[in-house]
Amino acid sequence: MAPPRPRIAHSAALLAAAIAGLLPGASRSEPAAWFPDPPASRAYFWEPAPCPGCSPLRARPEWLRMAALAGIPAPRFLRAPDELSGQAFASPPGAVALSPSALALDGCQLAFVVGHEIAHLAQRHFDEDAATLFALSGSAPSASARGEDALALLDFDFGLALRVAHLWQAQEAEADWIGSLLAAQAAACRIEEGALPYLRASESGGGLGAAHAPSPARAQALLPFSESARRLASSSLEASP
Ligand SMILES: [Zn+2]
Repeated sequence: MAPPRPRIAHSAALLAAAIAGLLPGASRSEPAAWFPDPPASRAYFWEPAPCPGCSPLRARPEWLRMAALAGIPAPRFLRAPDELSGQAFASPPGAVALSPSALALDGCQLAFVVGHEIAHLAQRHFDEDAATLFALSGSAPSASARGEDALALLDFDFGLALRVAHLWQAQEAEADWIGSLLAAQAAACRIEEGALPYLRASESGGGLGAAHAPSPARAQALLPFSESARRLASSSLEASP
C-alpha cells in the first residue's frame, strides 16, 4: 500500500516474473453490482519486470472471491522477501505482492490490503497514470504503446511527480473504499474490523508529492462507506453455509 506511483514504477522494474498479466485461459467475470466502471484510459503494454526474491503465493479463497467481485481474473499472488517495495503492492497488469509483515496481519486487515491492491488492478490505475504522464509531458497518449515509457518520464522529474500526485491520491482513495467493500463482501469484514485498525496501526502517508493521504485522513474518508460495508458483510455471512 505504500508509495504507489514510485511504487508502481518500482514494481514495474522489480516485478518481472510477476506480471505477464492475466493468467492464461482466465476469463473476466462479472463485477459486483456496486463496482465502479473501469477508467476509459487506453490499455498500454506492460513488460514483465523482475521481482528478486519473490516466490509464488497460494491465494486464499477470499482473495479469489475479491478478484471475481472486481470483475478481473485472479491476480498472480507473490510473496515478497521484504518491505523494500512497500508492505504490499500491485504490479501491472495482474500481480499482487505481499511482504512478510502484510502476511502477518489479522485476516480482515489483510483482506483490506489485498482488496486495495486488487482495486488498483481492476481500475487499471497504471494505464491511467501512463496516459496522464504522457499528457502532462506534452505527448499524445499514443506516444508509446509501452506503459514503462510513460513511467520513465518521472525519472529525475520531481516536478512532474508533483503535478500527477493529485491523481495518485484520488486513485489511492478509490482503492481504499473499493478494497473495504471487497473485503466486506468476500470476507465478511466490516470496515471497523479491517481498514480502520489497519490504518490506525500504520502511521504513514502525506507529505510533498505523496500518493497516500495521511492514515487518519484515509480512515476518515472511509467512514461514509461503513454502513454499506456492514450490510455487505452481513449478507456475506447469511449467504455462507
Ligand atoms: Zn494503493
